[in-house]
Amino acid sequence: MIIKKIGIDLGTANTLIYLPKKGVVVNEPTVVAISIEDNKILAVGNDAKEMIGRAPDIVAVYRPMKDGVIADYRITEAMLRYFISKVLGRWRFFRPDIMVSVPAGITSTERRAVIEATVKAGAKNAYVVKEPVLAAIGAGLPINEPAGHMIIDIGGGTSEMAVISLGGIVSCSSVRVGGDKLDQAISEFIRKKHNLAIGDRTAEKIKIKLGSALPQEEESIMTIQGRGFVNGLPKTVEISSNEITEAIGEQLREIVKTAKNVLRGTPPELVADIMDRGMVLSGGGALLRNLDSLISQETGVSCRVAKDPLLCVAKGTGLALNHLEVYKKSIMSKK
Ligand code: ADP
Ligand code: MG
Repeated sequence: MIIKKIGIDLGTANTLIYLPKKGVVVNEPTVVAISIEDNKILAVGNDAKEMIGRAPDIVAVYRPMKDGVIADYRITEAMLRYFISKVLGRWRFFRPDIMVSVPAGITSTERRAVIEATVKAGAKNAYVVKEPVLAAIGAGLPINEPAGHMIIDIGGGTSEMAVISLGGIVSCSSVRVGGDKLDQAISEFIRKKHNLAIGDRTAEKIKIKLGSALPQEEESIMTIQGRGFVNGLPKTVEISSNEITEAIGEQLREIVKTAKNVLRGTPPELVADIMDRGMVLSGGGALLRNLDSLISQETGVSCRVAKDPLLCVAKGTGLALNHLEVYKKSIMSKK
């Protein structure tokens, strides 16, 4: 099949590729492994993530989109090329239109870098759209209406929030707190409280299994293994969900504070619309239990989680690519 349109959600944690007629065809971690000796790319995506914490000294494992910006342009380009050619297969010869999501706070230099990388990786036309706008489109919000909609996208590296009306961002903010910081806070807490060292991936598993933004009456318990600090040997401890709520409290307060600031910076008419319609959460972080309740308690505005929050941005690229005319006000740049 000749592929004419490709949407890419270049996330800090995961890269998704969306084909308008097929849906999500690639969903892999945004991770690249490089051989230090000759600078060659050894693995991308799932294969590279497996190497984190396990690779020998001659391999460097990178997360090129750390904190939501392109930390390493060359690696990002190679990664885009890898994912795009994986999707195109033997039809590489036909150049598709490609849309890439970028953080709302991206600089013009970074934006040009994404466009360049996309064209070099094989695009006929490359479009760049801000991530919160795509998340809102993918969450099914009618963003072209003359009414305010607020989206909060909580990814791996950042939480991006925006109020959108008439297809454009009216006010927005981004905070460098996302799923990764929650994982780090969990590791730190377990290290201090239980004298146990755990890896990043274990911390993420604990967050997904036990994490809740609000304390729960019926606690769940999980047994975890790590390395004891006292004697350096393997050790097992039991962790409860309310301990995890405590561990991530400070990080969640940062997210709430940013949401409040966005509301403060929004014109009153649009705030009234948001009060009526509620806010929408997207991104993997939206799956944290009770996060919607915490945000609505703290801001006084109702809040709901979008359907398939991990897929909103990718779906948004598909919808926007299929209706370029409808969403033209939302497209930042094109080449
Ligand atoms: P990005 O857009 O930055 O690539 P994603 O939207 O893909 O990020 O979200 C990835 C983040 O979501 C990770 O930090 C991951 O741990 C977190 N996440 C995924 N599922 C859950 C869950 N069920 N509960 C809490 N966090 C989750
Ligand atoms: Mg994302």
